[in-house]
Amino acid sequence: MTAMLKEIPRKKMSITCAVCQHVVTHEVANLMLVVDENMTTHEIRQQATCPKCKAVGDNTYTVA
Ligand SMILES: [Zn+2]
Repeated sequence: MTAMLKEIPRKKMSITCAVCQHVVTHEVANLMLVVDENMTTHEIRQQATCPKCKAVGDNTYTVA
């Protein structure tokens, strides 16, 4: 599912790094404070940097 952040403000986005399997969960409400609310979850995924191994965009994500 791809949605704009502003459409899913009460959801959480969990990003799993494909390289090291590190998982980071973001509350969408908090993401909107640091990125444009019109960005989609897909765009967030592409820009996401793993805090553990620094891989960029190499991940999968779920929204719940
Ligand atoms: Zn990683």
